[in-house]
Amino acid sequence: MIRNYDKLIFELSKEGRVGYSLPKSEFDGCCMCSELPANLCRESLPILPEVTEFDVVRHYTNLSNKNFGVDTGFYPLGSCTMKYNPRINEEMAAHPAFAGLHPDAPTCSAQGALEIYYNLAQALSEISGLASFTLNPYAGAHGELTGLMIMRKYHILRGDLKRTKVIVPDSAHGTNPASAAVCGLQIVEVKSTPKGTVDVEDLKPLLDDTVAGIMMTNPNTLGIFETEIPEISRLVHECGGLLYYDGANLNAVLGKCRPGDMGFDIMHINLHKTFSTPHGGGGPGDGPVGVRAGLEHLLPNPQVKKGADGIFYLDADNASAGYVSNFLGNFAVIMRAYTYILTLGRENVKMVGPLAVLNANYVKESLKEEYYLPIEGVCKHEFVFDGLVDKSTGVTTLDIAKRLLDYGYHAPTIYFPLLFHQSIMIEPTETESKETLDEFIGVMKKVACEAIENPDVVKSAPHSTPVRRLDETTAARFPKTTYRQMKG
Ligand SMILES: *Cc1c(COP(=O)(O)O)cnc(C)c1O
Repeated sequence: MIRNYDKLIFELSKEGRVGYSLPKSEFDGCCMCSELPANLCRESLPILPEVTEFDVVRHYTNLSNKNFGVDTGFYPLGSCTMKYNPRINEEMAAHPAFAGLHPDAPTCSAQGALEIYYNLAQALSEISGLASFTLNPYAGAHGELTGLMIMRKYHILRGDLKRTKVIVPDSAHGTNPASAAVCGLQIVEVKSTPKGTVDVEDLKPLLDDTVAGIMMTNPNTLGIFETEIPEISRLVHECGGLLYYDGANLNAVLGKCRPGDMGFDIMHINLHKTFSTPHGGGGPGDGPVGVRAGLEHLLPNPQVKKGADGIFYLDADNASAGYVSNFLGNFAVIMRAYTYILTLGRENVKMVGPLAVLNANYVKESLKEEYYLPIEGVCKHEFVFDGLVDKSTGVTTLDIAKRLLDYGYHAPTIYFPLLFHQSIMIEPTETESKETLDEFIGVMKKVACEAIENPDVVKSAPHSTPVRRLDETTAARFPKTTYRQMKG
């Protein structure tokens, strides 16, 4: 067990100190090995820190204070929609009538939960303009895989077995090509124009009878609205392919326009972005998948349906793409998202997109003298700078991100999208106040100023965090998470 005050790491363990008490053994003899099979017994005692209960409480409380989350500060992480997670969502998700329900409970005793699942699916249909939704996938990438399985199944059921190519724009989120590969499809890249939208001229020669479909994000990961969708939809459908919409971030278009109306056939939504459920650290999410009318039978099994008698039931008799999860998605996440939609109501849902877009444009316009904006014009919910305008200082995007930590901000997304060398992708979301945005703008300007006047302070940041710059690859691949490893 370690403590880190003033960058000084020192041992808390003191021989003989204990933080537990165990009841007296009921067995004869002092060695429990007499009751356990020999092969299950340790050969030597484990190496554990010897500390009091109070030491443990302090240690973990201090660690938790070092955590940064959307509840502690501004978190402008592009493509992640780190909006406020309303507390009422938590209350509803913890409601014992739902939280205590066994996932295998018979449908007759789970009618309330099935109704919530059904209602949320209906709300998503209305928001997206698609006919039917499954809430079963557990994450955005899982939704993509589910959607692509549906796309494949669609072609297979028609006997169209040649269609194994999926077209993905060069600006796409990394999960798009990854999901296509996992689904056994080949990825063909389509280029972006200098305006940041999909290049229709580059797309045309790619379209033939081996194309299963195209995956698009709109607004795309540059925060630019794709204006050529009607033409792209016509071209892809004419060649026999389907259009997949990556709706992980629906924030910008929520209540304003609908993927179904744009001509998309299949889409996924991240409840853990647009619909305010907490995320990060790989925590639970949910990636509902919707399809247009005529593709409902391809949604994964089981589907939640409502009988003529108003009773909800599970239908697993579809020619579907198969099962993608053991149960009906992450139910606590579904509860939170449903609460969010009901709390906002039909009218206020329409305010989310415009406010998210306003906040993003406000930050972008306020900073474009100091940070290089490769694509001019109105953005949607997020935007990308290509490093500082003044490149002579040698200060990189990584340096800027690290310096922001000193000022108490979570860094924006960096080096993504891959279209620019020094990408900084900022998504403020609609839930931040003008004061918070102004403070962030002030700090970003200050860092740009420091880059010129005192570049070393930026290049050597962070200065105020418990640890400085880490070897991020090693930290991720060989994390030292146990006491024993720290000792070794
Ligand atoms: C976040 C995101 C995803 C992936 O979602 P996960 O839940 O992290 O798997 C896919 N596409 C886009 C555009 C995203 O922003």
